Amino acid sequence: MKKLIYLDNAATTRTAPEVVDAMLPYFSEYYGNASAVYDFGGKSKEAIARARETIAGILGAKDNEIYFTAGGSESDNWALKAAAEAYQDKGNHIITTKIEHHAILHTCQYLESRGFEVTYLDVDEQGVVKLDQLRAAIRPTTILITVMFANNEIGTIEPIAEIGRIAREHGILFHTDAVQAFGQVPIHVDELNIDMLSASGHKLNGPKGIGFLYIRKGVKIRSFVHGGAQERKRRAGTENVPGIVGLGRAAELAASTMEERTARERELRDYLLDRVLREVPFTRVNGSRANRLPNNANFCFQFIEGESLLIMLDMKGICGSSGSACTSGSLDPSHVLLAIGLPHEIAHGSLRLTLGADTTKEEIDETIEAVKEIVAQLREMSPLYEDYVKKHN
Ligand SMILES: *Cc1c(COP(=O)(O)O)cnc(C)c1O
Repeated sequence: MKKLIYLDNAATTRTAPEVVDAMLPYFSEYYGNASAVYDFGGKSKEAIARARETIAGILGAKDNEIYFTAGGSESDNWALKAAAEAYQDKGNHIITTKIEHHAILHTCQYLESRGFEVTYLDVDEQGVVKLDQLRAAIRPTTILITVMFANNEIGTIEPIAEIGRIAREHGILFHTDAVQAFGQVPIHVDELNIDMLSASGHKLNGPKGIGFLYIRKGVKIRSFVHGGAQERKRRAGTENVPGIVGLGRAAELAASTMEERTARERELRDYLLDRVLREVPFTRVNGSRANRLPNNANFCFQFIEGESLLIMLDMKGICGSSGSACTSGSLDPSHVLLAIGLPHEIAHGSLRLTLGADTTKEEIDETIEAVKEIVAQLREMSPLYEDYVKKHN
């Protein structure tokens, strides 16, 4: 393979070698069914229990509050659909935000088609949820508040402690999509009053197709997959043992390296943000500078199309993204960038670069040079830019 500079870690990450090593024995050596009576199946059962314990420990939760799923999308779907159904006697109103991942937004739309009412909160120009709007949106019929821990596009970290407190004061269930935050920022479910939390393996150097949903004890929740008795009868199906083992190992690694790793990423990321802002004219950084995921950089370059920039970066072996992974391929500007108040033509010129544990200074330097060169090249071809220059000369 040709040289690759991978700066799309918010879309997915490399499975860490330590994680692969931990998983391997559970394919061909310990392949027993965890539900079996014989001791050999017990090996799988023990491995699942260990992973559950590890994850619970990191969150300050109990083992039996962690339910393994097939990833972030499934966890989000489960949390929302099952809570809506279980609490419909109390009411039919759900509060979320305009900047959620589509796994939340599209599930909310589905629930609306089933008679639920959803309030989509605005965010400020940095992408932070407006707490006064949240308070004002609460009704006697509100059964669930779901706000993401950190945004996948612009990296803004939401005021989760405050939202948790408001939800608790009103006796409303609080779910957070922590797919981007888990492994990047410390999370304690009791301190933050979180009742349900979604996370995904492949966003934290674990395998794809595995995740979990934390469900606080006492929360009424329905089974999501009916069948066998796995996951305390709530999510049937023979367990993805290698995946669960990998997720447990990835979570353990992420927690133990968090301080050092994120400090390094933050420093490199700030270097990237500052240099691009300084060296590329007509550029803005999207999202909060203060409350931001350590590995996220998101820019808008005026007068150009983000898609063209991505294609030309790709020709240099640099992987980035514009909008979220799911919206790539569509030409609509990102709903997140529109929600922070950017006009369409600016939102179109966006670039997200997300660093990983292995990202080097050399890679960042090379990327900055490439961005400078390509943006200048694209602007030369841009009629918008030509107009602008004419008007201002
Ligand atoms: C990636 C992502 C998801 C979806 O997770 P999958 O494991 O890919 O299904 C959900 N929410 C957020 C914020 C994400 O970044």
